[in-house]
Amino acid sequence: MAHPVVIIGSGPAAHTAAIYAARANLAPILFEGFMAGGIAAGGQLTTTTEVENYPGFPEGISGVELMERFRAQSERFGTAIYTETINSVDLSKRPFYFESDDQKGEANALIIATGATAKRDNIPGTRDGELWQKGVSACAVCDGALPMFRNKPLFVIGGGDSAMEEANFLSKFASKVYLVHRRDEFRASAIMLDRARINPKVEFMLNSRVTAVEGGNCVEQVRLLDLRTNTERAMPAAGLFYAIGHVPNTAFLGGQLACDEQGYVVTTPGTTQTSVPGVFAAGDVQDKKYRQAITAAGSGCAAALEAEHFLAAHH
Ligand code: FAD
Ligand code: NAP
Repeated sequence: MAHPVVIIGSGPAAHTAAIYAARANLAPILFEGFMAGGIAAGGQLTTTTEVENYPGFPEGISGVELMERFRAQSERFGTAIYTETINSVDLSKRPFYFESDDQKGEANALIIATGATAKRDNIPGTRDGELWQKGVSACAVCDGALPMFRNKPLFVIGGGDSAMEEANFLSKFASKVYLVHRRDEFRASAIMLDRARINPKVEFMLNSRVTAVEGGNCVEQVRLLDLRTNTERAMPAAGLFYAIGHVPNTAFLGGQLACDEQGYVVTTPGTTQTSVPGVFAAGDVQDKKYRQAITAAGSGCAAALEAEHFLAAHH
């Protein structure tokens, strides 16, 4: 028999949807993924240290602990959680078919909350089989404390909040952190930018690009191009951290939902309704504007309420 509501994802959007759906007696089941999109169940916040802007935690809370609490609240109201990744869905008719590594099933309503994953660039030397994971990383919080980075010069690429946060975090271990940004204007919020700016160990390299990462078994130097003067120089380095944004985790949808040119699910403005009636999308997978835990949670709530209304109208 088809499940009333199946939720795919494990971040703030998925768990908020689960809490609301469970309390509406919709017996939701939730697939939290197994390293889906390269991230542990719990989503992006499991890759950060302190979350200081989630309301209700005036002292801040670790990202991992916050997500453990979300999950515990989902379970408390009876959500069945599977640590499996959904590999494919068939949205051509209702109930919708889904398939994970271990099970197949059907859902009368589907909530997609699969979030987004950190991007990597194609810089020579940074690819798989080159120096990726040998000093090149896309997660400072995961890898920054490794002995190989202690008291060594490190590079961070990006000009958003992630780059500022990663530069500050890495400054605890590094001798120096060079923050390389291709422009001289930032997407980062003022508070995050100021923290990096006043950090004596962080040096901004603006209007610059990393053109190559070089080394034997580990990163030894990066090549940096000054975009204004078009001059290149090599600088010693032990690590390079990408903080250049994210791609939405929508490949498993196989193009069955309308997505924008970057792959974000398109929802009807002001709702979580996708191009397929009965399929709702919440959180970063459909939001490239705000991309915050609180906005993801808010849209997860909306998705559950909209699924409830949909099911009431479509027995
Ligand atoms: P995500 O957190 O993206 O989680 C979705 C998860 O679903 C995936 O990670 C994966 O585990 C799972 N999944 C994916 N595909 C599948 C599948 N096919 N099957 C099953 N499961 C799947 N926001 C703040 O408000 N405050 C902060 O301080 C803050 N700090 C951040 C620090 C960093 C380093 C990063 C990267 C982001 C930060 N953000 C912060 C942004 C915040 O993490 C995101 O906005 C939020 O986590 C988005 O939640 P989400 O529910 O959309 O899903
Ligand atoms: P982002 O805001 O999209 O910033 C990405 C940055 O990377 C931009 O500066 C961009 O440059 C640069 N970039 C993109 N592609 C590049 C490439 N190929 N080469 C070089 N540079 C490249 O992403 P984010 O910083 O990961 O933040 C995502 C969301 O999470 C935001 O909403 C943010 O507020 C949130 N977040 C919040 C916190 C916090 O509040 N503590 C911490 C982390 C993240 P351009 O500017 O030139 O495009």
